[in-house]
Amino acid sequence: MRIVFSPHLDDAFISLGGAMLAWKEKKEDVGVVYVFSITNWMKGKPDKNPETVTAIIKDEVSKNLDATGIGAQMLDIPEIMIRSPSTKERHGEKARVDIVAEAEIFDFLEEVIMQIVEQGGGKDQLYFPLGIGNHIDHIILRAVAIDLVNSGKLDKKNVFFYDDLPFYPEHPTPGDIIIDQRLTSELIDIKKQLKKKIELISGYKNLSSANPKLLEECAKSYVDKGCNERVWKYK
Ligand SMILES: [Zn+2]
Repeated sequence: MRIVFSPHLDDAFISLGGAMLAWKEKKEDVGVVYVFSITNWMKGKPDKNPETVTAIIKDEVSKNLDATGIGAQMLDIPEIMIRSPSTKERHGEKARVDIVAEAEIFDFLEEVIMQIVEQGGGKDQLYFPLGIGNHIDHIILRAVAIDLVNSGKLDKKNVFFYDDLPFYPEHPTPGDIIIDQRLTSELIDIKKQLKKKIELISGYKNLSSANPKLLEECAKSYVDKGCNERVWKYK
C-alpha cells in the first residue's frame, strides 16, 4: 500500500493528486494520513472558528476521497495557526512556535507512523513532504520521517519525499536535506491524470493554495518540460 502523509487537508491532492490517480488506475491501494487536520484558514474570509472552518474543508476533501476511492485517516492535530494563536504570519519561519508543544507532536507522530507501519507489516511505501516552502507543519513531518530512517526504525527503501506544490518552482528545493540524506529524484508522469487532478483541486474553493492554473504550471515546469509530479527516494 502507498500511504501519503499530508500535513494539511489540501496537500495530498495538490502535491501527489496525479500520482495517486495513476496508482489507483493500476489497482494499487492508496491511503492518506491527514496530520494537521484542524484548521481555521479559509481563502478570502478567514473565519476564526476552527470548528466551522474544519467542517467545511473536510467536506471538500471527503468528496475527493469518495470520488477516487482513496481511504484516509485524520490525526486532527491543530495546524500552526491554531497552535500558536498570536502568530500574525502564516508561514513557519515567521511563526512563534511553542518548542515544547512541537516536541510532543514530534514524539506522537513517530508513534503513530510506527503503528501504521506495523499494521502494514513493514511493507507500505510512505510519502512525506520534502518541505519546499518551509512551512513548519511540513518541516515537522519531514523531520519525523528522517529521524525514523536514521534511527533504523523505518526502512529507507520504503520512504519517499514529495515536492510540496505549488511552492515548486517558486521556492528553493532544500538542497541540504537532499545531500545529507542522499536523495535522488524521480518524475511521475501525470499527463493522463492532470485534467482529473485539476478537477479535484478546483473543488477546494476554500483553500488558499489550490489555484488550478498554478498547479498546471507546476506540473509542466519540471526539467523535461513534460507533465509531472516529483518524488525523492534514498539512494
Ligand atoms: Zn500544507
